[in-house]
Amino acid sequence: MPDIIQLLPDSIANQIAAGEVVQRPASAVKELMENSIDADATQIKLILKEAGKTLLQVIDNGKGMSETDARMSLERHATSKIRSAEDLFTLHTMGFRGEALASLAAVSQMEMKTRPHDQELGTLVVVEGSDVKRQEPVACEAGTSISVKNLFFNIPARRNFLKSNANEYQHIVDEFQRLALAHPEVGFQLIETDTLEYDLHPAKLSQRIVNIFGKSYQEQLAACQEETPLVKITGYLGKPHGAKKKRGEQFLFVNKRFIRSNYLNHAIMGAYAGLLPENTFPFYVLFIEIDPKHIDVNVHPTKTEIKFDDERAVYAVVLSAVRQALGAHNLTPAIDFDA
Ligand code: ADP
Ligand code: MG
Repeated sequence: MPDIIQLLPDSIANQIAAGEVVQRPASAVKELMENSIDADATQIKLILKEAGKTLLQVIDNGKGMSETDARMSLERHATSKIRSAEDLFTLHTMGFRGEALASLAAVSQMEMKTRPHDQELGTLVVVEGSDVKRQEPVACEAGTSISVKNLFFNIPARRNFLKSNANEYQHIVDEFQRLALAHPEVGFQLIETDTLEYDLHPAKLSQRIVNIFGKSYQEQLAACQEETPLVKITGYLGKPHGAKKKRGEQFLFVNKRFIRSNYLNHAIMGAYAGLLPENTFPFYVLFIEIDPKHIDVNVHPTKTEIKFDDERAVYAVVLSAVRQALGAHNLTPAIDFDA
C-alpha cells in the first residue's frame, strides 16, 4: 500500500486553527485587545468599519515589537508569554497559546505597525491569508497598531455566515465592555464608522461602571470585598431593586479574565435569594483573584471556561462575600407592617 499521509502547508493549518479562535469580528477584537493589555498598554483604541467586517483596528501604546518579533508574532505557537509547560501555573497574561495573530493573518488582510519605545523606526508588516506581502521599516507611533481587513475574505462560507452589522457590533461591545471593566486603569476608545461610541478615561472601577452603563448605576452599587487564604474577591453588586428582566449584565472575572460559570453564578444568585423581584437578574461585576496554580485556563481556545482545583471552596467564599455585601448595605426587604 502506498504512503498517503502528508503534512498540511502552514497556511491551511493556520486557517483550520483560526476556525477555533476566530469565530467572528468580536473574537478578533478580543484577541487583539488582550494582546494590548499584555503589552502593558495604558491607552487602547478600537476602530471599526461595518461592525468589524471590513475593518477592525486596535491601536495601543504598549511596549511594541522589534522587527524580528513583528515577523515572528505571526507564526503559529509563537509567543513571548510562556516558555515551558510549568509557566502555565504562574500565568499572569491573557494570552499564552501563540495562535491569535497567526490565525487572524490566515483569514484576513492584516497590516501591523509596531515600534518599541526606545527605537526610532518601527516595522510595517502586510499579510494576506498567511502570505507576507511586505515587511519594511516605517515611521510610526510607539506601540502597536494592527488592522484586520475583510475578515474571512478567503473563506466565503465563513463570511456569509456573519450576522447583521447590529448583531456583530453587539458582540464586539460585549467584549469591549468586559475588557474595559477588567482594566479600569486603562483608557479605552471605541470608534464605529467614524462615530466615537465610547471614550473611557482611566478611572476607579465604580466610575468605570458608571461611564459604561450610565449615571443611574451610581446609586445602585454595593461594594463587595472578602479575602481568604485561597481567594480574594472584590467588585460591585447591583442592589436587588435595580435588577433587570434581562440577563447579560453579569460580569465574573478570574484573575481579570472574563469567564462563564454556571456554578459560581449559582453562588451569587443564591446570595440574592429572596431579595430579587421574580424573574429579574441583578447587575454584578465580581473579581476573583486566585493563585494561578489553582486554576486551569487551558480548557477552551477562547479561555472563557476555567477549571478550579477546589471549586467548592471558591463557591463558598463567593456566596459568603455576596451575602455579606448585600447584608452590609442593608438590602433585606423592610417588614411591611401594613400588609
Ligand atoms: P499570545 O498572545 O498567545 O502570545 P498572539 O498570537 O496573540 O499569541 O501574539 C503573539 C505574540 O506577539 C505575543 O506573545 C506578543 O509577544 C506579540 N504581540 C502581539 N500583539 C502585541 C501587541 N499589541 N504589542 C506587543 N506585542 C504584541
Ligand atoms: Mg494573544
